Amino acid sequence: MVWQLGDGNTINFWLDKWIPDGTSHNSSSQTIIDTTLNVRDILNSEGDWNQSYLTENLTTSMTYQILAIPPPNELDGRDMIGWGGTNTKHFTIQSAYNIQRGHIHSIEGEWQAIWAWRGPHRIQTFMWMASHECILTNYRRSRWGIGISPLCNICGAADEIVIHVLRDCISATQVWLRLVPSNQSSNFFSLSCKDWIFKNITNNFHGTHDLNWNSTFMVACWNLWNWRNKEIFEEGFQRPTDPNYVILKMATETDNCLHNMCSDNQHETTFIGWRSPREG
Ligand SMILES: [Zn+2]
Repeated sequence: MVWQLGDGNTINFWLDKWIPDGTSHNSSSQTIIDTTLNVRDILNSEGDWNQSYLTENLTTSMTYQILAIPPPNELDGRDMIGWGGTNTKHFTIQSAYNIQRGHIHSIEGEWQAIWAWRGPHRIQTFMWMASHECILTNYRRSRWGIGISPLCNICGAADEIVIHVLRDCISATQVWLRLVPSNQSSNFFSLSCKDWIFKNITNNFHGTHDLNWNSTFMVACWNLWNWRNKEIFEEGFQRPTDPNYVILKMATETDNCLHNMCSDNQHETTFIGWRSPREG
């Protein structure tokens, strides 16, 4: 039995067959799944796919397959049982999927550096979400809720968008200036968010310390976001007096761990990113 996606209110997200390649529970990365969820429940408040839910719960390949499908919409009518290719929506899904399929590999190829990096899984997931602008910055929150300031809590001088927290805020810039050689810094500080992340995880340029640059880069980004969260949510939290020391120590440990072929076995389900409020 194949479902044809309409408004997404009837199809069970995990158990029904509604994706061209089969059911999503075969691609689950979790041991426990919530089988009460309908497809409609996997949307964010803006009606788009909830990317953080997908990345946390599914394999990368299945996440891209679902992102290639137009999200369900009330205007599409009810979900229907049927056989492939009999209504326009199904046709749209199948063709979107076929078009994207060629593209999926190139997207995955591009971002493979994140998943190929042998560091903590939570940092990989964070980098993937940051590069897709999915982390819950003040700017993003301000667009959802009334009365939420988009400004950065630390400097108050600019909207807190992803690149601001990770690079352009004075608290981040000070860290990078000690990690990036001065002849590289004009390029480093001028790229757009996505290009900046992509360049830094794929180009193994030499930082000011003798470490794998992608480890230093990812560990620094992750810590900057983590410290920002703690400053907001943990009363009395103080940013380390020497943030570079903490970053370099953690990057060294990650690289040593890599050389010893040990892997991070923590399977974290709670993530410091966001989970959009469910409607209704
Ligand atoms: Zn700031």
